[in-house]
Amino acid sequence: TIGTVVVDQNGSICAGTSSSGLFMKEPGRIGDSPLPGSGFYADSDVGAATATGLGEDLMKGILSYDIVCQMEKGLSPMEAAKQSFTTFEKKLERKYGKVGAMSVICMNRAGEWGIATNCEFTFVVATAEQEPTIYIADRT
Ligand code: ASP
Repeated sequence: TIGTVVVDQNGSICAGTSSSGLFMKEPGRIGDSPLPGSGFYADSDVGAATATGLGEDLMKGILSYDIVCQMEKGLSPMEAAKQSFTTFEKKLERKYGKVGAMSVICMNRAGEWGIATNCEFTFVVATAEQEPTIYIADRT
């Protein structure tokens, strides 16, 4: 999945996902990427988040929505991403055992951003002040 979160100069916020799905997927499989709340969520009063990784795991919750809710409660994007991600991952582990690779990105109205991942994850940040910068993150 390619996931994006964007805040424009007027404060409008959007999230987008584009996914090729899963290798050898069954015909008709949908995955998390087109599902609001799970693969992506945006609220222009707060911020936006997107997810990437194993859709069969991600679809078992609404991780992107939860991250935006945590930002709305006052957490920074980094805190929100890490807290929601860890809680969700632990719940999946408790209920189903093994958890696949998953990563999330998010940004708030101020253009502050956060990520969380349980694998090696590459992402790019670009702001009015910062040229596009590539980061490589490891397990949260
Ligand atoms: N989340 C996507 C899916 O399961 C796959 C991906 O992120 O690469 O359809």
